[in-house]
Amino acid sequence: MAQKVIIPRMGQTMTEGTVAKWCVPDGTAVETGQDVYELEYDKSTATVQAKKAGVLRQLVKDGAVIPVGQPVGVILENGEKLEEVNLQGYEVANSALAGKNPDAPKQAAASPAAAPAAPKDADVIVIGGGPGGYVCALKAAMLGAKVILVERDSVGGTCLNRGCIPTKALLQSAELYEHILEGGKMGINAADVTVDYDKVDAYRGKVVTTLVKGVEGLLKARKVELVRGEASFAAAGTLDVALQDGTKRSLSAPNIVIAAGSRSATPPIPGLNGKNVITSTEALDVKNLPKSMAIIGGGVIGMEIGAVYAAFGVKIVVIEALPRILPNMDEEISAAYTAIAKKKMEIHTSARVSAIEDAAEGKTVRYTENDQEKTADVDVVLVAVGRTPDTASLKLDKAGVAMERAKVVVNDRFETNVPGVYCIGDANARTMLAHVASAQGVAVAEQITGHTPAIAQNIIPSCIYTDPEIAAVGLTEAQVKDSGREYKVGKFSLRANGRSLVVDRPNGFVKIIGDAKTNEVLGVHIIGAFATEMIGECAAVMKLEGCVEDIAHTIHAHPTVGESAMEAAEKYLGGAIHSL
Ligand code: NAD
Repeated sequence: MAQKVIIPRMGQTMTEGTVAKWCVPDGTAVETGQDVYELEYDKSTATVQAKKAGVLRQLVKDGAVIPVGQPVGVILENGEKLEEVNLQGYEVANSALAGKNPDAPKQAAASPAAAPAAPKDADVIVIGGGPGGYVCALKAAMLGAKVILVERDSVGGTCLNRGCIPTKALLQSAELYEHILEGGKMGINAADVTVDYDKVDAYRGKVVTTLVKGVEGLLKARKVELVRGEASFAAAGTLDVALQDGTKRSLSAPNIVIAAGSRSATPPIPGLNGKNVITSTEALDVKNLPKSMAIIGGGVIGMEIGAVYAAFGVKIVVIEALPRILPNMDEEISAAYTAIAKKKMEIHTSARVSAIEDAAEGKTVRYTENDQEKTADVDVVLVAVGRTPDTASLKLDKAGVAMERAKVVVNDRFETNVPGVYCIGDANARTMLAHVASAQGVAVAEQITGHTPAIAQNIIPSCIYTDPEIAAVGLTEAQVKDSGREYKVGKFSLRANGRSLVVDRPNGFVKIIGDAKTNEVLGVHIIGAFATEMIGECAAVMKLEGCVEDIAHTIHAHPTVGESAMEAAEKYLGGAIHSL
């Protein structure tokens, strides 16, 4: 695939650059890493190198001033022609190719060692249409690549079909129900409020279908070919696809992106594969609610699904192996949510499940809590003990891709050990979150098409959609403590926040952790209404390497829960107006 030579962004304020001087003549063969042109920008200079070997074709002359991100040249593979390169969306390059720019070369010169190009079906093939894969496919297509997306099921992956979106839809119904029941406090009395779970489920289905159709529409509009079937590697650049219609198809491309996602982990607990033992997939698609449910694992999935079922009156028993639920969150957040959740569900921590057995009615879960043998008798058991990369069917050994158990090993550019094979999202198990998969997908699409990825991959907000919501970015207090860094904390209670009182969610706080010497923001942890909408501000501050002062000295709209971030920052710095 042709590699565009672009004007790279060298600084935050840079908007354009000058091709001061080409280092090699038009039509010359270049090697990977060879200097191709001298760039002038913002009173500085730099040399831009070739990202791959091939024949350099210049699209502009020395002295051309070009916006950041636009191509100034193209490196062609053997057999490729300049006229065939997709420069859709690039003003400068398009005009050059159309002959409007008299400086543009009219025709590609033959490569000194021209050989027929290897047969290929696309520039990029993406395996898996989840939030990693479909975003990667769309971005690569937007940047001019010919893209095939292979998906064995419905586009949108776990996130849209069996994860984030259906969970949030069910939580929305659950919250609405709880709010109506609590309405008397605000003077709204509703009698005979009932739950029609068929309609709750139908609402979930409608939201999912709308979003899936939206993704299908985007793929079509951006000319990504959607191949419905299951892909496995035949060799490094070649896939065998078992199509949904029962036939087979072989596909080849110089770039293959594995975005195969993950599946629920199944620990070796006796009885785990029995009847009425379900994973989040089935829990999000039940037609009749059980009367009681044991949840093994008090992590994110356990707490979100537990919140839905508990709101609809299902008795919930959470059995968590570690000493606290939500063990990956800041300890204070975890403690605050435990206190709230205990009003709605039974929670057992430091508790290990030893067996799940059939009972006369439903299931008996045997577990050990603080060395005491206990049992829970329930209708259904939900296993929510983490997820594992879903890579077994990919036959990665045929391509020689290095693995560590089920996960694909990648470097910081999401490249595997096999050139041209990338892996993004849950399949590389770096951070199993939909938005991280999408960010990795964008980065890989940019790399493949010759652009410099811009997304900061190290600042990752995470959200839990319970009531109240939980959100975090950066380090927990325990992580900062362990690092040995001197730090300070500013914490503001939502009891003193007007909007939190208005929406009747005063139990919560915003906690900001900063470097004691520089006040650089190291972590922000929020529990409260709209927490998931507030965390973006804090992530942006961290991306800009901002300090606590940047949050404190920004006017926040009133009345919002977001003001609490400002007040937590003020508390950190010495004193918030609404806190003594
Ligand atoms: P998790 O890692 O969040 O929680 C699993 C929990 O199970 C942990 O607390 C662990 O200590 C416990 N556990 C493990 N083995 C156990 C055992 N034998 N007995 C009792 N407890 C045991 O995993 P999850 O909740 O399954 O979620 C899977 C992935 O999906 C995570 O990476 C999560 O971040 C992601 N996810 C994210 C969201 C969101 O962003 N809102 C929602 C759902 C899932």
